Amino acid sequence: MKIVDVEPIILQVPLDVPVVTSFGSMTSRTTVLVRIEADTGVYGIGEIWNNFPSWGLYEKLATLKYGMIPLLIGEDPTQISNIHDKLLRAHTVVGLQWGALGPIYHSVSGIDMALWDLLGKYRGEPVAKLLGGPVQPSVEVYASGLGPGPFEDFVEQHLAMGVNAFKLKVGKDHQLDLANLQRLRKLVPETARVMIDANQAWDRRTAIRVLQQYRAYGLTWIEEPLRCDDPEGLAIVRHQTGIPTAAGENLYGVRQVRQALEKHGLDVIQPDLSKQGGITASRSIVEMAASWEVPYAPHFLGAAVCLAASIHFAAALPGNTILELDANPNPLRERLFTRPVKVVDGRIAVPEEPGLGFELDREFVQFHQVPLRDISL
Ligand SMILES: [Mg+2]
Repeated sequence: MKIVDVEPIILQVPLDVPVVTSFGSMTSRTTVLVRIEADTGVYGIGEIWNNFPSWGLYEKLATLKYGMIPLLIGEDPTQISNIHDKLLRAHTVVGLQWGALGPIYHSVSGIDMALWDLLGKYRGEPVAKLLGGPVQPSVEVYASGLGPGPFEDFVEQHLAMGVNAFKLKVGKDHQLDLANLQRLRKLVPETARVMIDANQAWDRRTAIRVLQQYRAYGLTWIEEPLRCDDPEGLAIVRHQTGIPTAAGENLYGVRQVRQALEKHGLDVIQPDLSKQGGITASRSIVEMAASWEVPYAPHFLGAAVCLAASIHFAAALPGNTILELDANPNPLRERLFTRPVKVVDGRIAVPEEPGLGFELDREFVQFHQVPLRDISL
């Protein structure tokens, strides 16, 4: 079997209400899917991270077009580890030269995810089974992306779905953050897990000062209190505040994760399957973290394809604590599949169909697809 076609599919959906984070606002949701087809007609679909900024997709499309696709055509798609290795070997050094590890790992992620989907369809097995699982039939989720604006409705919706873990965005305004944390704690049952995410907003001193005020709220973790390139700082923060730390969505390659683990900066590692090199690299990351006794909680804020992959992954590989689920409306997560992913009793069941176990809604894709002819590189 040989790869004969690799097609990027760009989807963009404008938002009625912008999504606000500590680093900016998003007025639309954009994603790049990758469709890989073999000469037998079997195909797979993966997702490349493109959250913020939306123009970041140009970097991924250029990396795909000029870097990755020429290396994929003619390869045996079932040789996923070989392809993964080939793509990273060809691009990592040059990526370090031009400072583009992110787009390279993002692009490899989408390709890798598509290859796992293709392999599952080819063998007639779900990806969770190909990964040696499932070790659990469903995966617990937490509602993330709450705040800094009103979040009561999102919390109510997710409580009604049986979700009992919530994550608040902090890092813009300390008084507002504290008030939001107090409100969230009142809204949810005492048994609920509550996490906060600063998106790398603080320096060490600010993080320690601020977090000491948050200790009373029983936080399950503080996510990215510091810049992701400061693992020593993360270790200091977790030791001085006693609050567990989580990070990983912005670490690229096994080496960066290993450095964070060696500095004892992490209590939870958060690989994102559309950012860190897909299922293959994320598996290496969580298996390595297991040797430090650090569990994982997949990061997810993207479209439905990455959500499906994350469900198979978290169900199949031991050490999962919980899976992130963005609480904000996102048509690319909610309407991309013919049968949307459902949360029941706070959990998502692992699909039993071959591959990642979904079908794209063709009408939705056609309506929101940005034609490649409109993208000049
Ligand atoms: Mg985060």
